[in-house]
Parts: sequence; structure tokens; C-alpha cells
Amino acid sequence: MSVISSIGEFVEGTLFIDTHEHLIEESRRLEWRGKDAPVPPFDSWMPLFLGYQRNDWPYLFLQYALDDLLSAGMTAEETHKVFGLSRNEVSSRQKWRIVEPYYERAKNTGYLQALRITFRELFEEEEVYESSVERVDQKMEKLVQKGYYKKILHDHAGVESAQVNALDQIFYETEYPDLLFQDLSFVALSTELDLAIAEPAGIEPSSIDDWHAVIDWHFETYGPRAIALKNQSAYVRRLNYVPVAKQEAAPLFARLANGQSLSVEDSEALGNHLFNYCLDKAAEYKLPVKLHTGYYAGVNNMPLDRLRRNAGDLCPVIQAHPDVKFILMHIGYPYQDEYIALAKHYSNVYIDLCWAWIINPAASSRFLKEALLAVPASKFFTFGGDYISVETIVGHARLAREGITRVLSDLVNEGYFSESDTLEMGQRLMRGNALEMFDFEGALAAWSAD
Ligand SMILES: [Zn+2]
Repeated sequence: MSVISSIGEFVEGTLFIDTHEHLIEESRRLEWRGKDAPVPPFDSWMPLFLGYQRNDWPYLFLQYALDDLLSAGMTAEETHKVFGLSRNEVSSRQKWRIVEPYYERAKNTGYLQALRITFRELFEEEEVYESSVERVDQKMEKLVQKGYYKKILHDHAGVESAQVNALDQIFYETEYPDLLFQDLSFVALSTELDLAIAEPAGIEPSSIDDWHAVIDWHFETYGPRAIALKNQSAYVRRLNYVPVAKQEAAPLFARLANGQSLSVEDSEALGNHLFNYCLDKAAEYKLPVKLHTGYYAGVNNMPLDRLRRNAGDLCPVIQAHPDVKFILMHIGYPYQDEYIALAKHYSNVYIDLCWAWIINPAASSRFLKEALLAVPASKFFTFGGDYISVETIVGHARLAREGITRVLSDLVNEGYFSESDTLEMGQRLMRGNALEMFDFEGALAAWSAD
């Protein structure tokens, strides 16, 4: 048996512990059955996602294939017709005719490759074309049944459980706590403050002490059931979270609570204080902290100069919190070499390849191969689809498995490791490290006590 086929069989037969998705609750998808609702006007990806309520093929393109269609020249008006309007207004076939020229231009990318695999493996459609899209709509409607998340994750994507970062709430009270473990998002608590979230805590925040109490309430309420903390403030600012004392942050918060707006500098200083406060809470609750690093979703909005500094900006933060485990997501693409150095050097830094396999499959393979020759194998998590829709995880998981198989085989063929060494590593990369890092049992016990 050749190396690639024995490693391939092993990787094929091993279930991923998926460490990053944005899956909405299954019950919401069930509510969309039979619906053909237009999406309210949207100006960017997030409102588009929040307003979408159709189980149809464009939903599968929404994240992230649409980005590459736009990169290949699809216009805002065309995007509105395909994603905004109902099928009653523009039929499924007409929508495909709009998308097709851009699909032909972009179908080489990881985003589109992953989607094509999903069409093949989940919907048994060899290729997407005009007459297949209506069949996919019908198959999707049929697929969306109670329990279908588990079926797709287990039977089609080879995923045992997924970790969900809700994008429209701090934490989902999920129906399936043993399938969809939940991150506690601390963006609205620290870096993009949303004063309205104080309401469930029964606090009217006017001082920094009040806001600390709001943060404390969220940790008390969700912390025991959460699997990790999550923050994606890298989309709006640098990650240079230098400590800011409470006395310095207090007048800034008071002004904000008074309805005044803060300068960018003041708002970042307040964010610095609250971010560090949340990191202390993470240590108290023993929750790993997942941070977005590197590439941005969307198009025409990425300041590479800021992203380039992510790894360096984080060094003092990592050093200041030795009791916090930092999981740096998406390999910081396209600056992934720096993340190999970070994970090698800092005992509290881990790297997650979530999303990376579809951003750039070859770069992800290159990264993993080099990283496995420099960094303890215990410090990587290798799969997170990073999707809102469960269907698309299938194609991404396939690309990840192909990448892992290729990397492990190369390492054997080039004489670095024996086959049994790589199988042991494969086990770690796909699930063992996650089982070590995250307190699944503790979270589940808290859910059942709740
Ligand atoms: Zn994500």
C-alpha cells in the first residue's frame, strides 16, 4: 500500500473536531422552508447574511464564494438580483445566468472548489450549471429537516462536533449543546461596545464599574457553558492591546455612557482596558481565547498594512497573559510564517487552520508542513469551516482532508517521519489537540445543570 493511500485512509476515517463555525441554529433554517423571501436592502455581507431566509443555491454562495465572484467583476446590481430578490422576481435559472460568467472566471479558487465539492458530494450534481440549480433548490428544501445538521456534519463532512461563534448574538442558547459547542463572543463587551447588552444583566451602565459588572454577568451566565472566547476586532483595529488602567478608562466610559462619541484614540484606549479585563476573566474561567488574525472576509476593504502587524502586535499581549491560551485563527494569512514563529516561541500560543484551506489550499499545506517541522504538533487545530451554512462545510472538510493527507505523505516521502509518526500526528491534528484543549465535559455538565 502506498504512503498516500494508507495515510489517506486514516484521514478519511478520522472524525474532525471542528473548532470554528458560524452556524445559525438549525431551527432557523427549518423556518425558511417553503419561503421565497426577498432580502431587505443590504450594503455589505453581514446585513445580507442576517436578512437571508431562503433554502436555495445562492445561499451556498453567500459565504465565501460570492467574494470571489465580486473579485472577478460581478456588480452590485447583479449581486442584488441574485441574493436580494426572491425567486418569484428573478427565477433560479435567471440567477444562474447572471452568476455563470463570474463562476467560470473564478471556479479555480479554494472558495469555489470547496463549493463544487459540496455540490458533488451532498447534492450529487457533478457540476453547477443552468439546469442543475433548480434541482439543487429542490434537494436543499428536502434536506432541511429536523436533525439534518447532525446528519450533514457526521455523515457527509466527517465532523464529530463543531464550535460555533454566533455572529448576531453574544452566545446561542443552542438546541444541540453536544453537537454545537458555543463560543462566548466578547466583541460587544470590549472592543465594539454595545451598551444594549447590559439590559439582560439588569444594569443601566453609567460607570466603568457598571460595565465591569456587565462583563462579569456575561461570564457568570455563559462562561461555564462556553467552550472558548472569541474576538474578531482585527477587522476594525490593530491588535496592540496595551494595558490601560481603570482610572484612565473610567472617564472615557462615562462619556460614552452619556451619549457622547469618542475619538478613535479614546475608543481604542477604552477597548484596550476592557479587552485586558476580559482576558483576566478568560483566565479565571479557564477559557481559551480565539482571535481572528490575517485575511478579511468580503471584498475591497482590507488594510494589509494593519494585518501585517497582527503577529507583532500580539506579542506583548501574549506575554502579559501567560495564564491565557491564545488560539490564533486562519494562520494569519498571508503572513503565516510569523505564526509558525509565534507558536514555536510562546508556550501559550496555538494556531487554528480554520478557514485557511479555502482561502488558499496550497499555502495552507505549505504552512502545515513547515509548521510540523518547527512547532510541537500539539499546538494546531486543523479544521473549522468558518461557515454560517452547514451544507458548505462538506466541501471545505474535503479540501482540509486532502491537504492534511498530502502534508503527512510528503513528510514521510521526504524522510522526515515514519508513517506511524505521521498517523499519530494526524490523530492529534484532526481531534486529539482539541480534546486536550477544550473542556467539552465541563461545558456539557453546565448545559445539563442549566
Ligand atoms: Zn469566523
